[in-house]
Amino acid sequence: KAFADCGFSNVLMNAIAKQGYEKPTPIQCQALPIVLSGRDVIGIAKTGSGKTAAFILPMVVHIMDQPELKKEEGPIGMICAPTRELAHQIYLEAKKFAKPHGLRVAAVYGGMSKHEQFKELKAGSDIVVATPGRLIDLLKMKALTMLRATFLVLDEADRMFDLGFEPQIRAIVGQVRPDRQTLLFSATMPRKVERLAREGLTDPIRVTV
Ligand code: AMP
Repeated sequence: KAFADCGFSNVLMNAIAKQGYEKPTPIQCQALPIVLSGRDVIGIAKTGSGKTAAFILPMVVHIMDQPELKKEEGPIGMICAPTRELAHQIYLEAKKFAKPHGLRVAAVYGGMSKHEQFKELKAGSDIVVATPGRLIDLLKMKALTMLRATFLVLDEADRMFDLGFEPQIRAIVGQVRPDRQTLLFSATMPRKVERLAREGLTDPIRVTV
């Protein structure tokens, strides 16, 4: 399998080449065609597998496929991750593939000024990478709306649950319109995570590496 089989734009193919990604990793081989087809996915994969690109690349395609981009209406792509370190890594990876298409990525996690994040979100974003607690805070502050969000990624769901973020995750999932595409990644699938997948995903395909 090759990235060239995914139907990516030249802009995206160039960004992939620039990263030195020669061929898709196993999780990318399995997940990319399914995610690009619009289906919900449960990905059982660890950090280091290349799972980030497996959801960022289709997210960029999804956003570029929208008929009209009104940037003031809130993000289309929403990614939740358990820690600021992981959220920051995802943010960096997202920028590599979103920026060449002129899409804006905002980072929303602790350790940075809430006021700065508020201003950044108010200025408009297409993709938001967030930790659940900070995202809920900024939603309460009306820094952003989820009205336009149609592509939701829950990364390292088991760790988010271990850190006690279950209520926040449920609140976030409940605020994103039901006709969204949802991806859930987790290294393990404890019962709580299975339940979230059953409730928050529609007819998901399971991918394991
Ligand atoms: P992740 O599991 O998403 O954290 O990715 C682990 C590392 O693999 C990151 O440094 C990525 O930049 C890198 N990576 C992701 N996809 C590929 C690929 N297809 N070829 C080479 N490296 C990759």
